[in-house]
Amino acid sequence: MRFTYPRSFLSLLLLGFTIVAAPLLVALLSNALSFERLADLSEQAVHQAVKVTQASRSLAGVITSLERSARQYAVAGEATFLEAYRANRVNFLGITRKLVDMPLSDAERAEVAALARQEEAINQLIVRLGPTPDLTRRLPSEFATLADHGQALVQLGDRGVDEGIEQLREQAVKSRNSVFWLMVALIPTAILLIASFTFLIAKPISQVSDSIRSLGEGQFAKPIRVEGPGDMVRLGAQLDWLRERLVTLEAQKTRFLQHISHELKTPLTALREGSDLLSSGVVGNLNAEQREIARILQENSIELRKLIEGLLNYSAVHAQTSYLDASIVQLREVVRRVVNDRKLAIVAKDLRIELNCEHVTAYCDEEKVRVILDNLLSNAVKYSPERGLVSIKLYKERGDAVFEVLDEGPGIPPHERERIFEAFYRGTDAPIAAIKGSGLGLSIVKEYVQLHHGSIEVLEGPGAHFRVRFPRKKVEAGEEAA
Ligand code: ADP
Repeated sequence: MRFTYPRSFLSLLLLGFTIVAAPLLVALLSNALSFERLADLSEQAVHQAVKVTQASRSLAGVITSLERSARQYAVAGEATFLEAYRANRVNFLGITRKLVDMPLSDAERAEVAALARQEEAINQLIVRLGPTPDLTRRLPSEFATLADHGQALVQLGDRGVDEGIEQLREQAVKSRNSVFWLMVALIPTAILLIASFTFLIAKPISQVSDSIRSLGEGQFAKPIRVEGPGDMVRLGAQLDWLRERLVTLEAQKTRFLQHISHELKTPLTALREGSDLLSSGVVGNLNAEQREIARILQENSIELRKLIEGLLNYSAVHAQTSYLDASIVQLREVVRRVVNDRKLAIVAKDLRIELNCEHVTAYCDEEKVRVILDNLLSNAVKYSPERGLVSIKLYKERGDAVFEVLDEGPGIPPHERERIFEAFYRGTDAPIAAIKGSGLGLSIVKEYVQLHHGSIEVLEGPGAHFRVRFPRKKVEAGEEAA
């Protein structure tokens, strides 16, 4: 299933965090509701229990007064005692009626009914017997039964309170358990959701950054496409537009260089031929000064031709920097070939060459690696003093193949160590500036090294010391070399 991105990054973020927060909100809400229920329940239970026990206890008090007034009436037979008895009875009946209206348990209700019945029986007895010794004798046992029923009601009320409290406790435990399981389910879900959204957010951003990096490395061949919310897709389209512009500019630059080099060659050939004719004396004998001028003309036209060839070479290099023709290459062989090719120049300067090469293979473009080494070696030869020592090292380090080229020449001053890799940059110090060159060699070296996802650095040394490093194994496009 494909995820459909919302229209903007902001809405993606909002959506993500809402989805992450929703289960937590549900949990909080359900918690709040269950606590609310618990609080209501406990309030009700306490309220009822208090009312029932209050009524039962006051009933116990009324029973005592009722008994006292009844017994006084039985003994003395005075009307005031009978009135007091009646007043107490009204009181008793009022309380039992109130109790009947309360939400009682079945046992409590039966007890209240028994109370009412017993009281009614006592009343009948009083009415029937009047103030007689018989009544006096029977009253204590009758009132004892009534008091027992009252006491039983109080006990039932107390038990009701205990049961209510027990119920509350069970409800609290249940609520706590449900919160626990809710959390057990929610926390991993929240983590999972956060991880998924982080991935969805990070993916288009890393695509943009990869595209920018490959543009910077000069890889213009692959079209840029960013998947994600609408604004990120538009950003990708703009980057691709930029890539197309760069491709056009690059092509224009190459065409311009080729054109100019070609146009320069024709008048230059004429100049050279003219100076050759003059030097050879075909058009008449020259005196010493004229011959000197003809020689200068000839030498400079040769130098100019070399420069133009350099330019042509540079534009050719640029035209093919965007791809590698890679295969498994024996690097020691490449070193041997490069040294062999430069033999004449080495012998002419009487240089000593020291090779320290391990057996190293790498997945690389053999021709480009040859150009890298050839440029470094030809510079070392060019800038070395007569009979100097040039050494080349080749070894493996972690996953990389490493070349080092050292010479005993003037070396590279620290302030120039970055700039020498720019196209057309030439050293400004006296001994170097005197030696002819185009300033293109190291810029080509740098481009080829980067194409291999490698690096080149200038190390400290009495002479020049270059170190080139690139991964020996195949590197996927856009992946940084270790
Ligand atoms: P060129 O050698 O044609 O000038 P490069 O691009 O090969 O062009 O080199 C650029 C500059 O780097 C040189 O002008 C020089 O100043 C410096 N350089 C390169 N190699 C060496 C070296 N082996 N010794 C001293 N300086 C060097």
